[in-house]
Amino acid sequence: MLDRRTFLIAGAAAGLVAPGAARAQTSPAPARIAIAGAGAAGLSLASRLRGRMPNAKITVIDAKEEHYFQPGFTLVGAGLWEPRDVVFPNADFIPRGVEWVREAVAEFDPEGNALVTTGGRRVAYDFLFVATGLKLDYAAIEGMDPARIGQDGIASIYAGPEAAAASYRAIEDFIRTGGVGLFGRPPTEMKCAGAPLKITFITEDLARRQGRREAVELIYNAHSDVVFTVPPVNAKVHELFAARGIAVNQGHVLTAIDAAARRATYRMAGGEVTLDYEFIHVVPPMRAPDAVRASPLPWQEGALAADGWVEADRATLRHPRYANVFAVGDVAGVPRGKTAASVKWQVPVVVENLVAEAAGRAPTAAFNGYTSCPMVTAFGKAMLIEFDYEGTLTPSFPFIAPLEELWISWLIEEKGLKGAYRAMLRGLA
Ligand SMILES: Cc1cc2nc3c(=O)[nH]c(=O)nc-3n(C[C@H](O)[C@H](O)[C@H](O)COP(=O)(O)OP(=O)(O)OC[C@H]3O[C@@H](n4cnc5c(N)ncnc54)[C@H](O)[C@@H]3O)c2cc1C
Repeated sequence: MLDRRTFLIAGAAAGLVAPGAARAQTSPAPARIAIAGAGAAGLSLASRLRGRMPNAKITVIDAKEEHYFQPGFTLVGAGLWEPRDVVFPNADFIPRGVEWVREAVAEFDPEGNALVTTGGRRVAYDFLFVATGLKLDYAAIEGMDPARIGQDGIASIYAGPEAAAASYRAIEDFIRTGGVGLFGRPPTEMKCAGAPLKITFITEDLARRQGRREAVELIYNAHSDVVFTVPPVNAKVHELFAARGIAVNQGHVLTAIDAAARRATYRMAGGEVTLDYEFIHVVPPMRAPDAVRASPLPWQEGALAADGWVEADRATLRHPRYANVFAVGDVAGVPRGKTAASVKWQVPVVVENLVAEAAGRAPTAAFNGYTSCPMVTAFGKAMLIEFDYEGTLTPSFPFIAPLEELWISWLIEEKGLKGAYRAMLRGLA
């Protein structure tokens, strides 16, 4: 049982509990605020804005009735949690007084300060928060059908709660059968870049605990020359992989799988390579959702343009071409920051600045790129990795060393995050 102090330490260390929130000012402005997406960012925004702008007319647009606690997918994939542990009804988190339109946004019209839903409803706004998360582009991998997750040695904890549970079954089958297991990540921006590494460590640990480590050969196919873009973390993961006999290939981008033959094709600088496997954990390319990509909102040039990430100032998350538009969460076209822990620090920044402006004060809050994820390295062990835009490690607590495998960091992953996350959705943390 987790006591309150441990919970607070865990949540705070995970970047999900604000240490001592200041008394917040409110704004009486009767603004029309639209929030596209009711995920981690959208619900958290709705809660905070409801409290800080009591006269605003707030509309949340999202067709999804169920909310997924995605950080928990890793624990479902590890066989520790059930799918029901990571699914909440969205309705429980829509604040009173906020309208929820149960449709998706089909079209963004920032010139006309409006959006259009899939049902044809036009929602006019004074301020728009784009919080649609991202699209998992499984179709970009030839032969990859998410419906096959759990069969033919295919796993992918990203595809949803049931897929994460099916991935655990695929891992268990693989450990029983033995053979080559392939892991890796896509070449695009992605949410929780630690998760592909975590599932590799978990598979290795499960095989060892079941006395089957010698029966499996584990290979991590990195898309570039690093397994993690923060240098000290990259070095540490390499060290741990080497100690556990997990091989690393560099510059391997998964382009196709032949599920029947259990063969994967990778693009490399010098051409293609195919690898036979018994088991593969697929992490698909990730892009902005189609409605966002088709709109004028994405970056028009630069590294973040091709996949449609919303153009945003990296400190304020404000759109440089449409000053009444903000991008929050995974869809924001900023370097780093695609974790729920980042959302925790992004939402207060945009809300604080909006309230300040409505009161005639200068907006001064800034997001520093905070990104965090407890990197599970075995059952009962994790490293609490926290860093900013510059890739500088930003540990929340001096007694939790970021590059050490610690039980407290595991506790944060297993016990602390969910409660802190739910508090964040309610605007309380
Ligand atoms: C396997 C895995 C492990 C992870 N581990 C961690 C971790 O350990 N720590 C951590 O901090 N983070 C982790 N994350 C990342 C974290 O879950 C995301 O960064 C976070 O959920 C982002 O919040 P968001 O609101 O931007 O997107 P989401 O929470 O994905 O919500 C997006 C919402 O937008 C909606 N939407 C999409 N398109 C439209 C549209 N056109 N119109 C209206 N609504 C739309 C969707 O239905 C959805 O409800 C993990 C994620 C995964 C998948």
